[in-house]
Amino acid sequence: MSNLSVKGLTTGYDKVNVLHDVSIEVAPGKITCILGANGAGKSTLIRSILGLTPPRQGEILWNGRNLAGEKTHAIIASGISCIPEGRKVFPRMSVAENLALGAFLVTNSAVVRERLARVYEIFPRLKERAAQLAGTMSGGEQAMVSIGRGLMAEPQLLVIDEPSLGLSPLYVKENFNVIRRINALGITVLLVEQNARQTLAISHYGYVLSQGRVMAEGTAEELASNDDVRAAYFG
Ligand code: ATP
Repeated sequence: MSNLSVKGLTTGYDKVNVLHDVSIEVAPGKITCILGANGAGKSTLIRSILGLTPPRQGEILWNGRNLAGEKTHAIIASGISCIPEGRKVFPRMSVAENLALGAFLVTNSAVVRERLARVYEIFPRLKERAAQLAGTMSGGEQAMVSIGRGLMAEPQLLVIDEPSLGLSPLYVKENFNVIRRINALGITVLLVEQNARQTLAISHYGYVLSQGRVMAEGTAEELASNDDVRAAYFG
């Protein structure tokens, strides 16, 4: 199984470094989380993994291959898929069309149909609403479309950026259950979140980012009982 390993990553924008010597391991088959407050550098870490904000120092090893300097499309083709925050869907396209876009690298339409069927098994609601314009779906349903689109690429690693952002508690719960089910299918997950309690409840291992540095790491149980983490994230 595939493995992502970030080693000594330093990077940022213009003259300012936002991440400083960040090292994380995303174990194959597990859910690894990155917790951190606004501005901690979580999005920058994701951008770096996807080749959008390349490392200035350090390396990002994916199955032993250094991704530093690779183009985003090549990184995605290598099996890493990202679900952006804010459940971005194409509002004027149908649910089915949104999903099909996630498999844009696949030219065989039979394969696309098979993948669609698998996504509909995970999200029966999307099957019912396949022809509906995505922009007219509820917030929670759009979140399903966004996750489903990420799954259509059949990634080895799914990077999920703040899935709970802006969702009602009921949908947050549903979304986290879906992430657990996706992981149970054998997909490695890197989950980036501010919602520590629910994130740690489904994660195996986690890191806490603060001002661009890893301030704590450990198993989900260790982080949940770490006094500094509790003080900062559990109020
Ligand atoms: P949030 O949860 O609020 O999205 P975050 O943990 O994802 O926060 P980042 O978005 O990585 O944090 O931002 C970290 C720092 O980098 C912030 O100080 C931010 O202002 C800065 N930053 C982010 N993007 C850019 C950019 N394109 N140009 C300049 N500075 C940026």
